[in-house]
Amino acid sequence: MKHKVTDEDFQYFISQCKKWIDRFSLQEWKIYFRHQKDDADVLAAYSLAYTDKNVTIFLNTHWLNPVEKEELDYCAFHEVAHILPAPLFAQCHILYREECDSQTHTLINKLWDVVNHPH
Ligand SMILES: [Zn+2]
Repeated sequence: MKHKVTDEDFQYFISQCKKWIDRFSLQEWKIYFRHQKDDADVLAAYSLAYTDKNVTIFLNTHWLNPVEKEELDYCAFHEVAHILPAPLFAQCHILYREECDSQTHTLINKLWDVVNHPH
């Protein structure tokens, strides 16, 4: 059964994304948000045009799991954090797509651990 992601969830997701955009100083990017149905089992996604400094962040309208705030927090962080290595990614992705995806996700998850366990 799929769980509906409400407009309230979407507004919360946007507020969390904006928090990270601010903290990572990504104001030079044009960032758009879409609450859009995606039949694939994805919670959120992004689409980025590096040369235009343009990003669209998507939140799926339905999730397989119940919608939890912690998950919205993580998704917001995750999609915004994808913008950080964009200059590097634009180059390496052409040659090493899978390795580049995998290393980017390792980096994002390390950053998430750091922000959640500040010492
Ligand atoms: Zn990702």
